[in-house]
Amino acid sequence: MADPAECTIKVMCRFRPLNSSEVTRGDRYIPKFQGEENVIIGGKPYMFDRVFQSNTTQEQVYNACAQKIVKDVLDGYNGTIFAYGQTSSGKTHTMEGNLHDTDGMGIIPRIVQDIFNYIYSMDENLEFHIKVMSKTNLSVHEDKNRVPYVKGCTERFVCSPEEVMDTIDEGKSNRHVAVTNMNEHSSRSHSIFLINVKQENTQTEQKLSGKLYLVDLAGSEKVSKTGAEGAVLDEAKNINKSLSSLGNVISALAEGTAYIPYRDSKMTRILQDSLGGNCRTTIVICCSPSSYNECETKSTLMFGQRAK
Ligand code: ADP
Ligand code: MG
Repeated sequence: MADPAECTIKVMCRFRPLNSSEVTRGDRYIPKFQGEENVIIGGKPYMFDRVFQSNTTQEQVYNACAQKIVKDVLDGYNGTIFAYGQTSSGKTHTMEGNLHDTDGMGIIPRIVQDIFNYIYSMDENLEFHIKVMSKTNLSVHEDKNRVPYVKGCTERFVCSPEEVMDTIDEGKSNRHVAVTNMNEHSSRSHSIFLINVKQENTQTEQKLSGKLYLVDLAGSEKVSKTGAEGAVLDEAKNINKSLSSLGNVISALAEGTAYIPYRDSKMTRILQDSLGGNCRTTIVICCSPSSYNECETKSTLMFGQRAK
């Protein structure tokens, strides 16, 4: 059983390698790493539970960021794993990666595999019900009792890792966005994946239920940099507001404040029963290593520090 007294918010920081356009532009590689917990940018050190250098594998990231949470969810705890960072910093690579490639798989497919391996290894007295929900371009609505729900998303019971991957693929293809706009659009919206594991021992009738939210957040870059106007600008402001509300909730949880402002954004209301209390929360701060992005990288690192 997990120890309820241990710190339940972990902040990890991952730097991707320089990409080809950054190399072509002649950008400098700016992070300096010190041990496994510190990164120095512009002479200033930032400390996290773990810092991953650019050559860290998907498996190493999974082992450090998610393996423990999966065990806790199977013990009946709730949890949330977020990826935060500017567009193109590696959030989707970290959360999803290549869904169908053993080395390239990110956190989500590895979690799914681990959960099913666990189920296959258990004895027959245990009955499992796995429910998943996948939604890109998250849009949160309220019903007439002001209970928030995610619009246009179907929950589904699944029996194998393959069925989960199909659900994720469908969640992506259901986006009502012109294909040419897809990248631009997905960077301006949050993606959320929920896996709910219910188990019942048919002999003792003991029941356990744990759920895990996996959230690929919208790009955190400042609106001014994107040169947005009109509806696009409004959308960008909304995203900035929902990201700052999330930051406020997480820093209130980290400080142990009595009042947690969950109700300030619809996303934090959705995640409320999986954030704080004895829920497990991991934030993966994703960063570009390029001198060109130094400003955004610093602001991303500051967001991560607020949760410590
Ligand atoms: P985001 O979701 O934050 O916008 P992506 O995850 O799509 O960013 O990453 C942008 C590009 O960089 C993708 O082509 C991705 O494959 C690549 N990339 C991201 N992180 C890494 C990494 N750690 N190692 C190698 N390539 C990476
Ligand atoms: Mg992405």
